[in-house]
Amino acid sequence: MDVSIRNVRKEFDRYPALHNVSLDIRSGELIALLGPSGSGKTTLLRLIAGLERPTMGAVHFGSEDASHHSVQERNVGFVFQHYALFRHMTVAENVGFGLKVRPAATRPATSEIRRRADELLDLVQLSGLGKRYPNQLSGGQRQRVALARALAIEPRVLLLDEPFGALDAQVRRELRRWLREIHDTTGHTTVFVTHDQEEALELADRVVVMSQGRIEQVGSADDVYDRPNSPFVYGFIGDSSALPVHVERGQVWLKDRALGLSAPEASDGEAMLYFRPHDVELLDGCGGCIAGTVAASRRVAGTRRVELEIGGEQHRVEIELPVDHPAASKSRIAFRPKRWKVFSQPVEAAKAA
Ligand code: ADP
Ligand code: MG
Repeated sequence: MDVSIRNVRKEFDRYPALHNVSLDIRSGELIALLGPSGSGKTTLLRLIAGLERPTMGAVHFGSEDASHHSVQERNVGFVFQHYALFRHMTVAENVGFGLKVRPAATRPATSEIRRRADELLDLVQLSGLGKRYPNQLSGGQRQRVALARALAIEPRVLLLDEPFGALDAQVRRELRRWLREIHDTTGHTTVFVTHDQEEALELADRVVVMSQGRIEQVGSADDVYDRPNSPFVYGFIGDSSALPVHVERGQVWLKDRALGLSAPEASDGEAMLYFRPHDVELLDGCGGCIAGTVAASRRVAGTRRVELEIGGEQHRVEIELPVDHPAASKSRIAFRPKRWKVFSQPVEAAKAA
C-alpha cells in the first residue's frame, strides 16, 4: 500500500510538532524515520496510523484520502517499545487477538485463527511457544510476539515505534537483521521509527531524517551518509568536521588562501565547509589546501583519528588516516576534503531561529 503524507502540519495546543511535512512511502518499502528525541517521529507515525488527526494537510492510503478514517478502517499493524502483551493470555492468544475481536462477519473461524497464529509464530521463529505466557519469555521474544500479533490482521501498513529500544545492544542487532528478513519475506509496507542511526542505516530502504518537526533529508543510507544536504544531517549522522570559510566567485577560501574547492552554486560571503573525517586526501605541500597542526591523535578501530588545529587554536577539525600512514607521526598535516559541502551562514542563522 502506498502511503502519501501531504503538507501535514500537526499542532498540540498551538505548538507545532510537525511543520508542513510531505513524504511518499512506496508500497512494500521499509522506511525509517530517524531523528533525535522530540523531532516528531512518533507524531508522524501516529498520524499515519490514525491515532492523531492532522491540523492541516492529508494522509492518503493508495488513492484514497484516509485523513478521517479510524485506526480500524486503515487496518494498520503496530509494535511499540512498551506496548505490552496481554499478560493473562498465552502467546498464541495474543497473536490471534486482533482476529478474534473482529465483528462476526469478518472474523475467521477459531480453528483458522489458531492455524494463522501458529503460522506466524513459525515466521517469527517461536514455534512451539504458543502455550507460554508473556512473562515466560525474554524481552526479545516478547517483541517478536508483538510483531506476530501486528502481522496477524494482515495490515496494509506496519508501523514500528522504537520496537527494540528497550533491549540490549546484542539482541537489538539480531532482531534488526531478523526484521529485515521478515520484511523481505512478507513484503509489508513498513515504517520504522528509531533514534539510532546505525539501526536506520542498516535496516531501511530509505531513511527519513527529521529535526524539529521537519524532514531534513530523505534518501538511501548512502545518500544520507555520503551526500548530507544540511548541516544538521552532517552532524547527526556519522562524524563530520566544519570550518568557517568564505566563498568568492564560486571558490572556497580559508582566510587568504584558496582551497582549490569550487562551489559554483554557493553564494558569495561567509560560509561553513563540512566534510567527513574519512573523505580527505593528504597532500605534501600546501598551495591550495588546508594545513593544520596535530593537536591530538587516537586510535579508532582500524584507523587513526587526528585532530588538527587550523589557523592557531581557533578551529579544530578531525581527519582519519590509515593506522600505518607516515603522516600519523608528523606534527603538521596538509589535506583537502574529497567530498564536502559549503552552507552559507545566513541560511544557517535563519534555520536556528
Ligand atoms: P519523537 O518521537 O521524535 O521523540 P514526538 O513526535 O513524540 O517526537 O514529539 C514531537 C513534539 O511534539 C515534542 O516536542 C513533544 O513534546 C510534542 N508532543 C507530542 N505529543 C504531544 C501531545 N500529545 N501533546 C502535546 N505535545 C506533544
Ligand atoms: Mg517517539
